This record gives sequence, C-alpha cells and structure tokens, in this order.
Amino acid sequence: MSDISLAEMGINFREQKEQTKRLQMLRQRAARCVCRYCGNPLSLRKITYAAYDEAKIEIFCEHCGRIEFGTEPEIYQVAQYFIDEIQYDHYPNLDESVRKRRMNIAMICDILNWGFKNTGLLQAEGFTCSIALDEDTLTEAFAISESDLAQLDKE
Ligand SMILES: [Zn+2]
Repeated sequence: MSDISLAEMGINFREQKEQTKRLQMLRQRAARCVCRYCGNPLSLRKITYAAYDEAKIEIFCEHCGRIEFGTEPEIYQVAQYFIDEIQYDHYPNLDESVRKRRMNIAMICDILNWGFKNTGLLQAEGFTCSIALDEDTLTEAFAISESDLAQLDKE
C-alpha cells in the first residue's frame, strides 16, 4: 500500500506522530510541573472546544480550575520566596489578595522560566543540569546577607 492511498483514506502518519509527541510532552509536564499560580500538582484533562467541535487534551489545574502549562517546581519555589520574603510586587495598583499573590508568583515564574530557557538551562523536558535548591538554603542566604548589612552599619 502506497503513502498516497493511505492519505486518501484519511490516515496521516505525520499528524499522528506529532499528536503523540504533544501528548507525551503534556503527560511529562503534568507529572513533573506545578501550577504557576497556586503551586499545586497538575493533571491532564480532555477539553471540548465547542467552536471547533473537537476535544483536545490539555494540562489542567484542578485547584484553580484552569488550563495551565505549569512550571518546574524549583522555579515556583524561588518565585514564591521572591514574592513572600523579598516582597516584590508587580501589581502595585491592585489591592492585597490571594489572587494578587498568585498573579505575582506566576509573573516571576514566567520571568525565571524565560531566563533559564535563554541560558540553556531549561528545556521543554525540564532542567538540562541538576540543580540544588531548598527553602532552608534560600532563607539562610538571605539571613547572611542581612547580618552582613548589619555588620556594615556598625562599621
Ligand atoms: Zn493552580
């Protein structure tokens, strides 16, 4: 059977292969990544787009009830620290709320993601090298710099 007759039957191997590749990527991300807004684990869900009359598999955050591409858990952790401890505020015009905190964390996740991607440290499959990170390390580093500052004040 030639390729032409398969195409005539509506069987497109290339398209099918691309679909499988996408699904594989989504499956890996759902298993590895967390929501950029709330940090909760993600799952896969079949979303029906009425306008196109087709169902597509998407990564979904059950907690936020939204389609979410997700971020690496390490990136979320750093972003959370940046907002909660360093108290960066990307939306000064908005009143304090849980929603604003989540929007701020998601914004930092996007920035960090961009930075890691553009330095070759992050790919669609995750980090290209092993990274060491935990909250204690971050807190300690921050405490040291603060005591250093206090020391400088005395001098
Ligand atoms: Zn979420």
